[in-house]
Amino acid sequence: MRTTATHCPYCALQCGMGIRGGDAAEVEVVGRDFPTNQGGLCQKGWTSAQVLTAPDRLTTPLLREHRGAPLRPVSWRRALDRVVGEIQRVQADHGPDGVAVFGGGGLTNEKAYQLGKFARVALRTSQIDYNGRFCMSSAAAAGIRAFGIDRGLPFPLPDLREAQTVLLVGSNLAETMPPVMRHLNERQGDLIVVDPRATPTARAATLHLPVTPGTDLALANGLLHLAIVEGYLDQAYVAARTSGFDEVRAVVASYWPERVERLTGVPVADLRRAVRLLAEAESAMVLTARGAEQHSKGVDTVSAWINLALALGLPGRPGSGYGCLTGQGNGQGGREHGQKADQLPGYRKIDDPAARAHVASVWGVDPAELPGPGRSAYELLDALGTPGGPRAMLVFGSNLAVSAPRAGHITERLEALDFLMVADFVPSETAQLADVVLPITQWAEEDGTMTNLEGRVLRRRRAVTPPPGVRSELAVLAGLADRLGCRAPFQVYPEAVFDELRRASAGGPADYAGISWARIEAEEGVFWPCPSADHPGTPRLFTERFATADGRARLVPVEHRPVAEERDGEFPLYLTTGRVMPHYQSGAQTRRVPDLAAASPAVFVQLSTELAEQLGIVEGAPVRVVSRRGAAQGAARLCDEIRPDTVFMPFHWPGAGRANLVTNPALDPTSRMPEFKVCAVRVEKVVN
Ligand code: SF4
Repeated sequence: MRTTATHCPYCALQCGMGIRGGDAAEVEVVGRDFPTNQGGLCQKGWTSAQVLTAPDRLTTPLLREHRGAPLRPVSWRRALDRVVGEIQRVQADHGPDGVAVFGGGGLTNEKAYQLGKFARVALRTSQIDYNGRFCMSSAAAAGIRAFGIDRGLPFPLPDLREAQTVLLVGSNLAETMPPVMRHLNERQGDLIVVDPRATPTARAATLHLPVTPGTDLALANGLLHLAIVEGYLDQAYVAARTSGFDEVRAVVASYWPERVERLTGVPVADLRRAVRLLAEAESAMVLTARGAEQHSKGVDTVSAWINLALALGLPGRPGSGYGCLTGQGNGQGGREHGQKADQLPGYRKIDDPAARAHVASVWGVDPAELPGPGRSAYELLDALGTPGGPRAMLVFGSNLAVSAPRAGHITERLEALDFLMVADFVPSETAQLADVVLPITQWAEEDGTMTNLEGRVLRRRRAVTPPPGVRSELAVLAGLADRLGCRAPFQVYPEAVFDELRRASAGGPADYAGISWARIEAEEGVFWPCPSADHPGTPRLFTERFATADGRARLVPVEHRPVAEERDGEFPLYLTTGRVMPHYQSGAQTRRVPDLAAASPAVFVQLSTELAEQLGIVEGAPVRVVSRRGAAQGAARLCDEIRPDTVFMPFHWPGAGRANLVTNPALDPTSRMPEFKVCAVRVEKVVN
C-alpha cells in the first residue's frame, strides 16, 4: 500500500508523518522520522486523517440570497459571479479599500503569497492582514529590532539537546508541541519555565517561576540586573557583537530583586537560582512563546528576554541562543510572503521603494499601482462596516468569530458588512455568517510548501483525492482575478506559484531564491535564507554576524508598565487564555475529530481551590467569567496549579464558551498584537 510522506496539518512543529492508503475514508497516519519529531506525533497528529472525512465537510459552494435567508448550495459559477459582483459594486461605491482580505497562518506558502498578490494586484486594496498578527507578531517585531531579521528559531530544533539550560517563557510545550519534550527530556540539563500556571511543562521543570500575569518584562529585567551584579555578564561578547548595552544596564539598574519580587510575585531566592542556572550553564537557550508575546507590551517584553540572552552571550553560540516558538502551522512562512498589512514577499516592507519596484517587476505591474500599508488585523476587523472602513471582506483560513479578541464585537462587525465571503473546508462559525461560502481542499488533498518554526521549508504532499466539488484557494484566487479582468497572470499549480514566490523573495530578508521543490524533496527541507541554487541554506543564523547594518545585535532598553487593564473591585481577577492538548486554535478542525472531541469535550474555567472556596464554587459547576467586554461560560475545574488571583480558559470553543468574548483588544504600539494573555475579570456562579 502506498505511503505518502507529508507533514501534520496543525502546528508550527510540522511533524513529519506518512499517510498510508489513498482513500480518504480509509487512510492511516503513520509516524515518520523527521528531525523535529523523530517519528513521534501528538494525539492531534495521529488522528488528523479524521478531519478529511468530517461529516459536515463542505463540498459545494453555498450562497445566501439576502440577509436572513439560509445558505443554500449553488454552482461554482453562480458563487464566483456573486463574489465578483459584490466586489465590483462595493469598490465602485467605496473605492479599492472598500474590500478587505483576511488570511491565515495555516495557509501554505503558495497560498499566502498568492493572497497578498491578489489583494494588491487584482483588488488594489491595502486592506489585507491575517491571523498571524494575533500569534507571534510581537516576537517578530522584537527579533527584527534586535537581530535585523525574524526567524522563529535561528537554529535547528534538535540543537535543544545541546543546551544545558533551557528557559521557556510562556510556553506549555508538553501540551502544545509534545514531541519537543523528547528533545528536552533526553538531554542532561535544567529547564526553567515562566508561567502563571503549573502546566504539565512547568511541572517537568527544574524551576517554575509562577509569574503574575503581565509582568514578564519586569522579570527579565530583574534577571538581567542580577546577572550583571553577580558578574555573569559576557563582556567580551557584549563588546564584540552588540550595541546598546550601556542604555540597557542603566534601565535594569532599578530592577533590584526585592522590587522584582513585588512586581512579579517570584521570590528573590528563585530569581537568584534562575540566573545561576542560566548563566553558569555551558550552553543555554531562552525561548519565548505566546505567554510572553500576546500583550500590549509584547514587543518590549520579548526585547527584555533578548537583552538577557545577549548579555549572557548566547545568540550564535553552539547549543545556545534566543528563539520564538511559533505557533501556527505556517506561522513562519505565513508572515514572509505578503499577506501582512505592511509587507511584500521576501519579508520586505511595503513602503520600501526598492522592495516595491522589485516585487512589481515580478508581478508585471507598475510599482505606483501597488497600494501602501493597510490596517493591522484587529484595527481592520474593528473598522468593518463603519464609515470609511471596508464594506466587504474575503476570508481565507481564519475563524474570526471565535479567535479574534473581543469576539462578540468582532462578530457584530462581520455582520455589519455588506458582503462576507469565507473559503473553508468546514462550516466554521465565521463561515456560518457569510453570504458566500466556498468549499476548498485541505492539507492531505493538495501539494504545497510550509515553513516550520525553524525556518525549514517543507513539502506538504497530496495523499488523497479531494472530494468532487472542492477547489484549492489557488484556483479560487485565479478564477476571481480572471473575472475581475486582472491582467497579471495568477498561476494555479502550486509549484509554479512557488517558483514565482522564489523570484519575488530574491534579495529580501527571507530569501527563497535557491529553494526548489526538487531540492526540498532531495534534502527533506531547506532552511532560508537560501539565495541561490548552489547555496546550502542556512540552518544556523548569527554564528558570525547579525543581520543588522553593522552586524551587531541591538539591546533595547525597555521598562515595565502595567497591563492595559488592571484588576479592581469590580473585576478582581486576571484571566489568561491558552490551549489544551487535544485542540488547535478555534477548534474548527479538532472539534470535528471524534477522538479529540471525546478527549476534551467542552470548555472549562480553571481556578484554584482557594479561590473556588472563597466564591463557593464546586468542581464541575457552571461558572461565568465576566469582563468589561462580555462574559464566557464554562464548567469550573478546580486545581492547585494556578495562582489564586488568576483564572484560565482555553479558547477552542464557540458560542457562550468563547474565551475571546472576554479578552482585551488593547494593542501593542509596534506589533499591533492584542493583549490576549491578560485582562481583568470576575467569576460568577451560574444560577439556572
Ligand atoms: Fe506535531 Fe503539532 Fe501536529 Fe502535534 S499538532 S503532531 S506537535 S505538528
